Amino acid sequence: MRVVLLGPPGAGKGTQAQIIAGHLAAPAISTGDIFRANVSGRTELGQKAKTYMDAGDLVPDEVTVAMVKDRLAEPDAKAGFLLDGFPRTIAQAEQLRDSLAELGNGLDRVLELVVDEDELVRRLSGRRMLVDGEWVQRSDDEPETVRHRLQVYREQTAPLSGFYEGEGLLARIDAIGSVEDVTARALEALGWSPRSGQQAGA
Ligand code: ADP
Repeated sequence: MRVVLLGPPGAGKGTQAQIIAGHLAAPAISTGDIFRANVSGRTELGQKAKTYMDAGDLVPDEVTVAMVKDRLAEPDAKAGFLLDGFPRTIAQAEQLRDSLAELGNGLDRVLELVVDEDELVRRLSGRRMLVDGEWVQRSDDEPETVRHRLQVYREQTAPLSGFYEGEGLLARIDAIGSVEDVTARALEALGWSPRSGQQAGA
């Protein structure tokens, strides 16, 4: 299955992507994680991305699209994948559609995780990640940057919801509640049957 997870910062895409990918036996591909790994590894890609990320802005499409194309060409992504954090602009979505179409493929589903903005701000300001045994705040999770990222989301990424609705691919799920509850809603929206371990009706 080829799936895109859509949703604002703090909606829980990363957490759900890992769990759902386990069920689908497909890789979860997070552009944010790839960028962060490149920033800590001080690669050329990391250098290009860092200023944008720290400001809460999007990394330019040409950098991001080339990186995702390379990742999707790896053998583990041939049969399916779960994209987390990509596409984030209409231009990225169009390029994803075109490059999949070149291979005779297309997306099967786009899952939008819906969470209201008050809850997002609460979650992001309390979020910590484990680095070398210590809990630290992500540099772009500071309140001012969070507000900016939410604005970037509203302006550049939220329109993807309508784009994918028009393509007949969109499923919206309520992403408030326990991690398990949200996973159950996501798997249901994907037509996934936990008992058979495969797609319902497949
Ligand atoms: P979140 O969903 O919490 O904002 P991510 O880890 O997905 O966090 O992304 C962190 C940052 O990485 C973004 O603010 C942006 O700078 C960059 N980034 C990630 N994915 C993309 C993308 N598809 N296009 C442009 N920039 C991206």
